[in-house]
Amino acid sequence: MNVPKSLSEQVSSATRLLAQPEVKLLGITQPLGEDATTVEQHIERAARLCYRTEGKMTASSSIRFLRGIILRGHESVLEHASATFRVLGGSRAYTHEQVRHRLLSFSQQSQRYVSEEDFRAVVPPEIAKDPEAMEAFVELVEHARRAYAQLKGLRLRNQDARFVLPNAVESGIVISGNFREWRHVIRTRCSPSAQWEIRRICGLMLRELQRHAPTVFGDLILDEKTWTVTHISETIGCKDAQQRVRKELAELEGRGEPPKRILRRLDDGELYRALFHVRRCLSPGCRETFAACGDLK
Ligand SMILES: Cc1cc2nc3c(=O)[nH]c(=O)nc-3n(C[C@H](O)[C@H](O)[C@H](O)COP(=O)(O)OP(=O)(O)OC[C@H]3O[C@@H](n4cnc5c(N)ncnc54)[C@H](O)[C@@H]3O)c2cc1C
Repeated sequence: MNVPKSLSEQVSSATRLLAQPEVKLLGITQPLGEDATTVEQHIERAARLCYRTEGKMTASSSIRFLRGIILRGHESVLEHASATFRVLGGSRAYTHEQVRHRLLSFSQQSQRYVSEEDFRAVVPPEIAKDPEAMEAFVELVEHARRAYAQLKGLRLRNQDARFVLPNAVESGIVISGNFREWRHVIRTRCSPSAQWEIRRICGLMLRELQRHAPTVFGDLILDEKTWTVTHISETIGCKDAQQRVRKELAELEGRGEPPKRILRRLDDGELYRALFHVRRCLSPGCRETFAACGDLK
């Protein structure tokens, strides 16, 4: 077997080994009509019908409005917008995890119609950094490649020859989903317990989504070193969150306004973060503070 000796030789000579996935946003909901020009206004327009407050929409109202919707958990309105991604350079191990998300829609490269004779393999970073592991990996991948070619040489069809392929085989996939489902998938798959590959791919998707819908995906903070996501409500402590919310409530009271009007102040990112914290936190102080905001349903 002709396996290069050094790791750098292996990586540079084995052009069929892949390290990086390529995530491309192929499409995203574009509104029609003069009252909405962005995808976020498209959601706002739909959601405002519930309250018949379409007339209150302004060029900048979607930040406050959508934050209020997300904070209160009324995420069904996010289903009015969708995005489609193409992922190349992910492994079959990754795609198998991704397709478990039943509310997404998929078109995946077929191993029946497309020959895998020249397949590329995704190398896990933990294997790539260990020369001994890398040598075993390359050897097995090349062995699978030869076995596949041998079966094809025996006139077996792709659908049968593919049984010798490893999980590392690259597979192309196109995925569509609505924004509510993307939020769910990204939070589930960018958690520290998810696998590195899906974490990275979903992180790259989040980066794109935040570019086009910064408010809808703005409460998810992406760490591009680990490709993990933290929720904004986890980035503030109970004491600070309670103080910030109480300060706002006191100001409302001073003006004789009901506490519920706090939702109208959600343009303020710090207040949004604090209010989200007290809404989600189970500590008695946070629960009391959230209750003081009135009925936010
Ligand atoms: C860290 C990690 C480890 C995992 N390990 C394993 C494992 O060892 N073995 C394994 O088999 N899987 C494993 N999974 C996959 C996991 O069990 C789920 O299949 C996958 O995360 C899809 O989640 P979901 O059902 O929430 O999402 P989706 O299918 O995206 O659905 C979104 C939401 O819609 C609702 N929904 C969807 N379908 C239905 C339905 N039929 N009925 C009611 N409500 C529905 C639910 O609220 C669901 O949360 C793992 C996932 C993670 C993140």
